Amino acid sequence: MPREAFVNGRYVPHNQGAVHIEDRGYQFADGVYEVVTIFDGALIDEGPHLDRLERSLKALCMDMPMSRPAIKLVARELIRRNGVTNGIIYMQVTRGVAPRDHKFPNDARPALVMTTRQTKPQSAKLLAEGAKVISVPDIRWTRCDIKSISLLPNILAKQEAAEAGAYEAWQVDREGMVTEGSSTNAWIVTGDGKVVTRAASNAILSGITRRTLIKLIQAEGYELEERAFSLEEAKVAREAFITSSSSYVLPVTQIDDATVGNGHPGLLSGKLRQHYSDYMASAGDPI
Ligand code: PMP
Repeated sequence: MPREAFVNGRYVPHNQGAVHIEDRGYQFADGVYEVVTIFDGALIDEGPHLDRLERSLKALCMDMPMSRPAIKLVARELIRRNGVTNGIIYMQVTRGVAPRDHKFPNDARPALVMTTRQTKPQSAKLLAEGAKVISVPDIRWTRCDIKSISLLPNILAKQEAAEAGAYEAWQVDREGMVTEGSSTNAWIVTGDGKVVTRAASNAILSGITRRTLIKLIQAEGYELEERAFSLEEAKVAREAFITSSSSYVLPVTQIDDATVGNGHPGLLSGKLRQHYSDYMASAGDPI
């Protein structure tokens, strides 16, 4: 099946999708994005992702490039055209094309691009063994709550992780507290069974998976603390895990040279992963 992309109002063959060299996304990273999971032919948390897109755009003084129903329609059409049943849809909005000048252009039209990707299930080995993470200094700006396409620090962190044979890099602020992964939110389970993740603020991206998992944790009656935790606390935690639209709930069994818990994916992490899987199986929006 030929793969297509949606580029500025048209469906085009994926390998021919192109934007102008003076698109402000290309020159200034002047844009934002979203990634929505497609699970078993349904979109997971589409509404919250579109809410966050609108919020990110607002922070850039931009409006949604199309009405919400139109975006939903195009997303579904693209997913259908590409025959994706499990994977992701990527949506990117930039301020559009204008002669290079830092200040906002008066007349640029926002550029909207959507692509889809069919993904394979997570590797059985990764799930059985848990993920390894390394720690890196958080060198990002103070608006990490905006889902900006400016991802250089995140890319450098992920590359460092890959070179260390790790799945993810946890970014650590100047106070020694973990902010989040390069593309995931970070969680630990304390010795007395409390689930801990950093509170939403400008220091992290408020993950949609994080948000949903918080609701599931509360519904199941587990104890939750939204607070910062240090790298040191994480290394001696009973369990650790990460969340994102692409990783779901993924146990972490090693942080730098420290083994987390007994070195196997934690019991509670496993339960939360199952709760999240059940949620995806039942709460998706049909395509
Ligand atoms: N933090 C960062 C920096 C991210 O890039 C992502 C994934 N986009 C997340 C957290 C997780 O967010 P979500 O659960 O919405 O995918």
